[in-house]
Amino acid sequence: MNEVKVLAPATVSNVVCGFDCLGFALAEPCDEMTIRRSKEQVVRIINHDDYGLPTDPTKNVAGVALNALIAAAGLDHGFEVEITKNIKPGSGIGSSAASACGAVVAANRLLDDRFSKTELVEFAMAGETLASGSRHADNLAPCIYGGFTLVRSTEPLDIVSIDFPPLCATVIHPQIEIKTSEARSILPKEVPLKEAIRNWSNLGSLVAALAQGDYGLLARSMEDTIVEPVRKSLIPKFDEVKAASLAAGAFGGGISGSGPSVFMLSESESIAESVEAAMRYVYNPTGIPYNTYVSIIHSEGVRFV
Ligand code: ADP
Repeated sequence: MNEVKVLAPATVSNVVCGFDCLGFALAEPCDEMTIRRSKEQVVRIINHDDYGLPTDPTKNVAGVALNALIAAAGLDHGFEVEITKNIKPGSGIGSSAASACGAVVAANRLLDDRFSKTELVEFAMAGETLASGSRHADNLAPCIYGGFTLVRSTEPLDIVSIDFPPLCATVIHPQIEIKTSEARSILPKEVPLKEAIRNWSNLGSLVAALAQGDYGLLARSMEDTIVEPVRKSLIPKFDEVKAASLAAGAFGGGISGSGPSVFMLSESESIAESVEAAMRYVYNPTGIPYNTYVSIIHSEGVRFV
């Protein structure tokens, strides 16, 4: 086998009260990637899209992740990667994570799956560090494991897969730019104990609700009183989108990643489509261009095609 094709899915991180730890995988949109062995010991990147992402492997997250894998495996050959990016960079639904994960999962298949999923997340984290400046795995873990994942710790990496009932996500991506530095700089430096207790109570019950398939508890647990109140000011009409989505039947939701995308979770595809219509109704008069996606939460991450 000399060539592997994969679909690397978008992911939602910072799931409400699970800031910096809880994430899930969508079925779509996905980046399409083809990877093949090359004789030279280098990574060559070919982009088939208009996003102008770097082809220099030290500047593209796919290249950085692959170089980490090549070093760990002690390979005497390299890889050529073709990327068709369908997840817009900077959208807040794990665009860079998809490239990093797709590259290492595909390369691992070419190496007869010699690395574990945790090791692959570790390699992809080298790429994510390039994109965001910090070591975090909350998009990478669901992209590789699929479903809902909780990153209990990044050093050492400890990833927990969480069982979940049928769920569908609706995502709206307003085409505005949010600077990661700004989204970070407005975060509170300290959290009052009372708020912290409220948050870990909610996160504990959100995880239990997922594992037990308790939709009522899920809806009650989807509350974030720490990050959302400050970050929502960066997203036009956030409160209106949320209110309209809940009225249309969503359990709850919040900011995806560090925005600008906003996600909502529902029990079925038909409710998720009503939520999509409600979001559009709020956004249409604003004149801000946007995309929407409706997708099940997929139990698989990167998929082979
Ligand atoms: P998202 O918010 O959708 O998760 P990120 O903020 O994670 O997107 O990543 C976007 C940043 O990573 C951009 O600065 C982009 O230039 C950089 N980047 C480097 N390589 C890639 C790649 N292969 N795919 C996406 N983004 C990349």
